Amino acid sequence: MSKVLVAVKRVIDYNARVRIKPDKSGVDLTNVKMSMNPFCEIAVEEALRLRESKAVDEVVAVSLGPQQVQETLRTALAMGADRAIHVSTEQQLEPLAVAKLLAALARREQPLLCLLGKQAIDGDNNQTGQMLAGLLSWPQATFASKVELDKAAGSAKVTREVDGGLETLSCQLPAVITTDLRLNEPRYATLPNIMKAKKKSIAKLTPQELGVDVTQQLVTLQVEEPAQRKGGVVLGSVAQLVEKLHKEAKVI
Ligand code: AMP
Repeated sequence: MSKVLVAVKRVIDYNARVRIKPDKSGVDLTNVKMSMNPFCEIAVEEALRLRESKAVDEVVAVSLGPQQVQETLRTALAMGADRAIHVSTEQQLEPLAVAKLLAALARREQPLLCLLGKQAIDGDNNQTGQMLAGLLSWPQATFASKVELDKAAGSAKVTREVDGGLETLSCQLPAVITTDLRLNEPRYATLPNIMKAKKKSIAKLTPQELGVDVTQQLVTLQVEEPAQRKGGVVLGSVAQLVEKLHKEAKVI
């Protein structure tokens, strides 16, 4: 049975106001709305479309982290994923650890494709997909805006968003593909599907069971809010503007 493994990350909701902890050690997540990373929603949607077009038979969602990531997996199941795997750990995971865990799962599950978001909007790392492809020695196509599978040829044709244009490439399967914003518009989970997803079981594994050491290699020294923008002034005339640019800003 051909399958897609989709990695979904639980992150701070993109509408939530980010607050820094008073000791500047990180982002304060108490009572903050959390959601599926938007690029991961796009990855789930693409996997579902591939199944609906019969290019693959099964969609397996996977998330790594504490117990709460099961909410994100429930969302993926409610969108239509067939089953879900939770790799359970309280440890803060760095991209390399995530990539190693996903690689171990890929070796177990043998998917045709691993679909990931191009980046998680919390850490903005944009590393996991690339590292995963490296660890598996599989081809990678990042920032995908179009994905077509040719099962008979065992290849994928992927259009990528690159600076100033689009690049289309072909890669052999199995492969790792990361999703960009314009790949698709993710569907909303309907209420009946949300109810059904509550009953589906989620398989649980630990990093130890997958033989992966997730010890942190990096130390966060400090996290700060962006500098506050200073208030602007309304000028009375173009002449005043020119004078200010000349005398104060000294740019002309
Ligand atoms: P990053 O490299 O951290 O920007 O993340 C890129 C992608 O890797 C995300 O969009 C997810 O598809 C996947 N990913 C990262 N962390 C996790 C996690 N803890 N659980 C599941 N998938 C993850």
